[in-house]
Amino acid sequence: MLAEATSYDLLLKGGRVIDPRNGVDAIYDVAIRDGRIAAVGPALDARLASSVRDVTAMVVTPGLIDLHTHIYHAATHYGVEPDPVARRSAVTTMVDAGSAGAGNFAGLRKFVAEASRSRVLAYLNISYPGIFAFDQDFMFGEASVAGLLSVDRCVAVAEANSDMVVGVKVRLGGGTSGEIGLLALERAVAAAERLGLPVMTHIGKPPPSYAEILERLRPGDVLTHCFRPSPNAPVDDRGAILPAVEQARARGVLFDIGHGMGAFGFESAEAALGAGFAPDIISSDLHMLCVNGPAFDLLHTMSKLMTCGVGLADAVAMTTDVPARAMRRPDLGHLTPGAVADISLIDVVAAHFPFVDVAGRRRDSAYLLRPRGLLIGGEFVEPGPRAWETPFYAEGVQP
Ligand SMILES: [Zn+2]
Repeated sequence: MLAEATSYDLLLKGGRVIDPRNGVDAIYDVAIRDGRIAAVGPALDARLASSVRDVTAMVVTPGLIDLHTHIYHAATHYGVEPDPVARRSAVTTMVDAGSAGAGNFAGLRKFVAEASRSRVLAYLNISYPGIFAFDQDFMFGEASVAGLLSVDRCVAVAEANSDMVVGVKVRLGGGTSGEIGLLALERAVAAAERLGLPVMTHIGKPPPSYAEILERLRPGDVLTHCFRPSPNAPVDDRGAILPAVEQARARGVLFDIGHGMGAFGFESAEAALGAGFAPDIISSDLHMLCVNGPAFDLLHTMSKLMTCGVGLADAVAMTTDVPARAMRRPDLGHLTPGAVADISLIDVVAAHFPFVDVAGRRRDSAYLLRPRGLLIGGEFVEPGPRAWETPFYAEGVQP
């Protein structure tokens, strides 16, 4: 009986375990039983394990969460199939950020979430059709028509899908919300209030301004594209953090990267980080128009932020513990015994990658994060290829 109670299905042996929720950063073993974390600690007994995987020199983290993706593939033009990207970026949870609205959420559940190995969660767009018209040369803003912004429909569908819906998405600025940006935000906040969920707000070109958006966000709401380049950058012309940004953080508003094809600028990031203002969350804003650069995926975006000065342990917190809390999913994002065994295996390789931001500015990396595999509910998944990065690995690094 005792042997049964302490046996493991799998033991990950000798990795650097970074588990921000539990304050762990140490060379530990991780034991898994029945798809859940059984034990985490130094030198766990390998004789108790049916299978042992040597993860020496790897970093073992809670399953990475990409809080901002677009994975409603085939149904929306810019949706990307989640599993291949998850494998290549060691991401276990893909969160779709508003590709679907109340009118077409059922398809996201049936054709993407149920059909994928990745854990799929979603912010529901306040606009009834979701992001229905978006490609390289053609865009019709889903938040630009008041008649599409139904609070009642959004609330009803979110309530009926509470296992998947983690918040309400609204996209503001430029052509996305047209002249009614703040009305769209008010509708999203009204729906979120009724649901007891957070809002995730996209910020584009003004109007509305950075400050006008932040004033309306509540503690726990997420501003994505936080380090976008000017106009509507988080810093002024001299590189100083906007007062509204400091005030919103003090109130508990969360700042998310959401790289995408137009929303990450080195000058904004370096000025903010230089002033001590790190993002709360790193996400990719993965979609068809940035999956082959400049964002690529979450792991690449983490490497980019590390080149700007974010430390590895902080980058892990920004992609595990913090996004899980932002979604009010305390069951995810940590390696506490009893938690579901979603685990990412990565390592750090010397590499000189020429990073480019959305304005075409370049910074060269000293290293890149590399996927070594992932576990979803305790099941191991092999890592996928990263053909655009491997030519830049320093000589001597074995892929
Ligand atoms: Zn997006």
